[in-house]
Amino acid sequence: MNWKELSPEVHHFEFEIPGVEHFSFTPGQFISVIEPVDGKEIARPYSIASPRGGNRFSLCLNRVPDGVLSTYLFDLKPGDEVKIHEPLGYFTLRQTLGHLGRRAVFIATGTGIAPFRSMLLDHLPKTQPRVTLLFGVRYEQGLLYREEFEKLASQYPEFHFMPTITRPSESWTGRTGRVQSHLDEALAVETGDGISTVDVYVCGLKEMVDDVRKELKRRGFDRTQIIYEKYD
Ligand SMILES: Cc1cc2nc3c(=O)[nH]c(=O)nc-3n(C[C@H](O)[C@H](O)[C@H](O)COP(=O)(O)OP(=O)(O)OC[C@H]3O[C@@H](n4cnc5c(N)ncnc54)[C@H](O)[C@@H]3O)c2cc1C
Repeated sequence: MNWKELSPEVHHFEFEIPGVEHFSFTPGQFISVIEPVDGKEIARPYSIASPRGGNRFSLCLNRVPDGVLSTYLFDLKPGDEVKIHEPLGYFTLRQTLGHLGRRAVFIATGTGIAPFRSMLLDHLPKTQPRVTLLFGVRYEQGLLYREEFEKLASQYPEFHFMPTITRPSESWTGRTGRVQSHLDEALAVETGDGISTVDVYVCGLKEMVDDVRKELKRRGFDRTQIIYEKYD
């Protein structure tokens, strides 16, 4: 294991699985990290934040104050080993994007960006899907992987990156406020032909996910078009 700081409370962790040539998962899935506490094992799920390839994978984690497992992970030192359960989960691309004109809007707050980083880095170079990513955080320095997403947006015209900040500094000239207030702008990029060809993927804390789901249903999206993962 190795890690680097993305923002004061968020670290990017990299793990290598010894004795395995290829770590098999579908972008968007999570692994569970297991920690032995007082003879009992506790586990928490974490979305894989990296694309497929080789025997490595990454996680993007925030330190939850007094949180049992996030504190354990933040205390690890380079080279330490952890136990994990195999990848699971259905927060994965429903359709081959591009197939039958299918498009997607990704909506994330905070470390909810992790599964989208995995999907984008994996799928964009292979199939150039039509995707708009709306990403909300509190502070500009909390825009995790910002340079990577900006680079992808300049490399692939099919990909649009829309960051928004709720507590902007004076120098910030971009979008401000919560992701909810930019929903229409993000949807407009992909719904030129109507909403029936667009799937919306939402990941983050419950309050935001439930709010966005409600807004999407109000705009006529069917529940099968709304795919979501709640972190709490
Ligand atoms: C499918 C899935 C994927 C996840 N992927 C990620 C990921 O990629 N990165 C990541 O940082 N976390 C992720 N989480 C959250 C993670 O599993 C843990 O819940 C989180 O690390 C807190 O665990 P803990 O043992 O440190 O805290 P606990 O001791 O379990 O205490 C958690 C308490 O903190 C609150 N809380 C505050 N902020 C958060 C938060 N961000 N997440 C969860 N609970 C919070 C909860 O409501 C709860 O009361 C994911 C959760 C799910 C269900």
